[in-house]
Amino acid sequence: MKQVSNSKCPKCGSKTFITMPNRYDCLRFVNGEFQVEKSEFRNEKERIFCRECGAEIDVNTTFRHKTIILRKS
Ligand SMILES: [Zn+2]
Repeated sequence: MKQVSNSKCPKCGSKTFITMPNRYDCLRFVNGEFQVEKSEFRNEKERIFCRECGAEIDVNTTFRHKTIILRKS
């Protein structure tokens, strides 16, 4: 099956995207040392941005249409 979905930012054509800073791994200080606590991937309020131009992706619509859709500001 041929992939026809758009995997690039509609605005600038970038193929790389980032999540919010608070989606990165969290550290916890446990028993005298730092332990990496992997952030769990939840369905709620996932926010994704274009790495190049910073446009926010409309995650729900993107998943539904299987193509990158920007959030309307
Ligand atoms: Zn972009």
